[in-house]
Amino acid sequence: MIRFENVSKRYKDGTVAIDNLNLEIQKGELLVLIGPSGCGKTTTMRMINRLIEPTSGTITIDGQDISLIDPVELRRNIGYVIQEIGLFPHMTIEENIALVPKLKKWHPERYRKRVNELMDLVGLDPSTYKDRYPSELSGGQQQRVGVIRALAGEPDIILMDEPFSALDPISREQLQEELVNLQESIRKTIVFVTHDMDEAIRIASRIAIMNEGKLVQVDIPDRILRRP
Ligand code: ADP
Ligand code: ADP
Repeated sequence: MIRFENVSKRYKDGTVAIDNLNLEIQKGELLVLIGPSGCGKTTTMRMINRLIEPTSGTITIDGQDISLIDPVELRRNIGYVIQEIGLFPHMTIEENIALVPKLKKWHPERYRKRVNELMDLVGLDPSTYKDRYPSELSGGQQQRVGVIRALAGEPDIILMDEPFSALDPISREQLQEELVNLQESIRKTIVFVTHDMDEAIRIASRIAIMNEGKLVQVDIPDRILRRP
């Protein structure tokens, strides 16, 4: 479980991006953070992997204060997917996906098997695609690789920051569906940022609505919808 306790973030220029946030993210849930541009979604997300440090308050993972965990260690256990896919252009798809498993010194047999399994899960035939380079895949295929790369090292937590925003509507809906299926099979904790309520409702186990650095409401999609 990820817990924010009285967390605030004030940037150097004085902007208060997060104002006394209290939030618990349960193990295995897909929590969607939603709200208008500038409300603090990305800041919240990036505090979990310590790309941004809170000004005050505490963030714990399974009871452990993350400010006491080495950031490199921490990030090995937290997959991160962003809109700008960031695949390495000179590495094949398999090499891209196997990056973290290799850092973790997995046996080649183990990571090759993992690459095949993950590619199958999102409908990318390994024998066709694993030796290709990113530029030889469509945008939607590349984003699938971005998603499964974040899962490859078996992290406990996956952070996804508007991962599908750059895609056409059809690829986007396909990926949303695949993510829900993936989540059902792997049961990892996923924190997903979007500003699109339709997307949130399709994929979320719970939705956290933010505004101006504060939480407005946290609930399951059904109850968010029933509000006037
Ligand atoms: P921190 O306090 O976390 O170290 P900084 O204030 O040093 O953050 O800013 C980090 C980076 O973000 C800088 O490169 C800065 O130019 C950039 N930045 C500054 N203001 C904004 C803003 N309003 N939105 C997004 N990025 C910004
Ligand atoms: P969101 O992801 O919801 O669009 P952000 O977390 O990126 O919101 O930003 C929250 C607020 O903090 C905004 O007002 C933004 O301009 C500001 N901000 C983000 N990064 C920086 C930075 N590095 N320096 C100063 N202000 C920042």
